[in-house]
Amino acid sequence: MSAEAADPGAPLRRRSRPRIDLRRLGRVALRGPVSRDRLPDAISHVAEAHRAHHPDADLTILRRAYVLAESSHRGQMRKSGEPYITHPLAVTLILAELGAETTTLTASLLHDTVEDTEVTLDQVKEQFGDEVCYLVDGVTKLEKVDYGAAAEPETFRKMLVATGNDVRVMSIKLADRLHNMRTLGVMRPEKQARIAKVTRDVLIPLAERLGVQALKTELEDLAFAILHPEEYEETRALIAAATGPDDPLETIADNVTHTLRDAGISAEVLIRPRHFVSVHRVRRKRGELRGTDFGRLLVLVGEDADCYAVLGELHTCFTPVISEFKDFIAAPKFNLYQSLHTAVVGPEGAVAEVLIRTHRMHKVAEAGVVALGNPYAQDPAAPPQTEPSDERADPTRPGWLSRLLDWQESATDPDTFWTTLRDDLAQDREITVFRTDGGTLGLPAGASCVDAAYAQYGDLAHTAIGARVNGRLATLSTVLSDGDTVQPLLAQDTASGPSPDWLDHARTPAARIAITGWFSDHPDEAKPDPETADATGPGTRGEPAAATEREAPARSRSGPRPTGVVVDDPNAQVRLAGCCTPVPPDELTGFVVRGGAVTVHRRECPAVAAMQEIGRAPVAASWADGEGRESDAGCRVTLVAESFGRPRLLADLTEAIATADAAIVSATVEPPSEQRVRHTYTLRLPDAAGLPGLMRAMRDVAGVYDVSRAQHPAPTG
Ligand code: MN
Repeated sequence: MSAEAADPGAPLRRRSRPRIDLRRLGRVALRGPVSRDRLPDAISHVAEAHRAHHPDADLTILRRAYVLAESSHRGQMRKSGEPYITHPLAVTLILAELGAETTTLTASLLHDTVEDTEVTLDQVKEQFGDEVCYLVDGVTKLEKVDYGAAAEPETFRKMLVATGNDVRVMSIKLADRLHNMRTLGVMRPEKQARIAKVTRDVLIPLAERLGVQALKTELEDLAFAILHPEEYEETRALIAAATGPDDPLETIADNVTHTLRDAGISAEVLIRPRHFVSVHRVRRKRGELRGTDFGRLLVLVGEDADCYAVLGELHTCFTPVISEFKDFIAAPKFNLYQSLHTAVVGPEGAVAEVLIRTHRMHKVAEAGVVALGNPYAQDPAAPPQTEPSDERADPTRPGWLSRLLDWQESATDPDTFWTTLRDDLAQDREITVFRTDGGTLGLPAGASCVDAAYAQYGDLAHTAIGARVNGRLATLSTVLSDGDTVQPLLAQDTASGPSPDWLDHARTPAARIAITGWFSDHPDEAKPDPETADATGPGTRGEPAAATEREAPARSRSGPRPTGVVVDDPNAQVRLAGCCTPVPPDELTGFVVRGGAVTVHRRECPAVAAMQEIGRAPVAASWADGEGRESDAGCRVTLVAESFGRPRLLADLTEAIATADAAIVSATVEPPSEQRVRHTYTLRLPDAAGLPGLMRAMRDVAGVYDVSRAQHPAPTG
């Protein structure tokens, strides 16, 4: 029997998710299949949910699976007293709602039959084919794993290898665990706690890695309630108190809706309540909760490019909190998740976090690998596969899973494997760093250049001597940040080996196993004298390359001040043209425009030629020295930064701009094409002499390959 039983009356319920009444399913299931041609009522909810995602799905096989499962489990009860069939039905419904394909649902209906009933694997194979049989077998084995005794590490390892070929097995396992967690109330408290701990330590990280957000958040709340009942109650009370008619997020959502409508962008603006654990985390991080912390805005659009259009509007019409900006579209996380994240300041200073994604991205964010459908089927509707080096390309084997399978080959004893696996799953966040050859590496947060070296070069990394991080020399101990570009440097001397203190900086199992392995193969390499060992360096090969500080942006305060523009008519009102935003010492040409004002362009601005072509007479204009009209406002300039897309790019660029004392008047970000992004900023500088320094500082931002003056300003909101 499966270890847990159901209790439909369990007190733990999420707020927003409508749920099928399992009691009713139970009663219907008891009546059993009533007709040969019609779907039994009990399975019809599953069928409906399945058809919603897959309108053409063939439901015959589901009906057959239900009939077999129902008849073979008949007479079995869960601890709650309900017919056992309610469990596989509920598990299958969870998967159907996430959009799983028919084969997964079929296997899910049968997932406990081989373990708990007379049904054999051969029978499953005969009636439902190899694929369903393979999935049922995988789930059966996985089910034994969690409750196994002494052989746990070795069993788990075997199971992981067995299921490593197919993430659908894990999807079923996660849904199975979710239903068991939902119905844990009938268990003794010690048993609840034990199951909740395994859920927290293994299943939730697994859900995170597989990108199944909907399962992950609910599992988190269920485990939280069992393992931290007091904090759970506090959080529940806070959420209840904050739920009222004047949600400050509503106001901001309305503003966002109007802003996007005015801009002609069709988008759906929703408020997404945070789950309990998320509210609890925000509270721990900030100490106190703001009214806007109980949810986030979710903006759903049709096309990828619309995401950037929305971002541009929000950053123009609201004050953005730039440090909150993250681009998970240009550089997706390794669990398939794609979105833009930002935060905007609403009325009265309330800060709202905003997620921007397409409907498709949303589906993948919620359902992760489950939404990808049958990984073996050729789906003509699927997006084209990216290059093979991209870990996201193979949904059956995400990058971390491949790594796992690699370690289990190199880690010879199960304990090492088990420990490293648990450590790896405990890293709840991954960062993406860029290789200089254009590829990317997914590493756990806190990973260092040691990890990057082993991730990129395997055992060749034994000869590492240092690294370049964002173009600058860095020690191997340097901790990497999301979006860094890293280039490990290897010595020519291939006989040399790692330093023991690298273990202090290695966060990834791959690096730890490789380093430990090298020392066990080289027992003569005594640990270096701790007095002389360089805690950060590459051990026996002398001093590491010194890391150089980021060059401070060059800023000149001694240059000429922008001092207004002198034109022939001293009474004329002078305006600087928006199209080319001239600054000293640009050569100028003016034209009289409507109302008698003179608009001044840079001499090479195409507008000048165009005006002359249609017969407009130019007005001489030049920069004047001394105090002038423009000195108060400073000078305006529009710059275009061409970059390779990466996380934190916008944040780093705007930081460079702020450091150079320039203010952003408006900004647009064009959607990336082939990983390239174009940012256009209209900026106000206190002093035109600061422009070269500003442009240098922007060019120094990692990923930026060109910064130039624009002919046209960024549109303002
Ligand atoms: Mn089960």
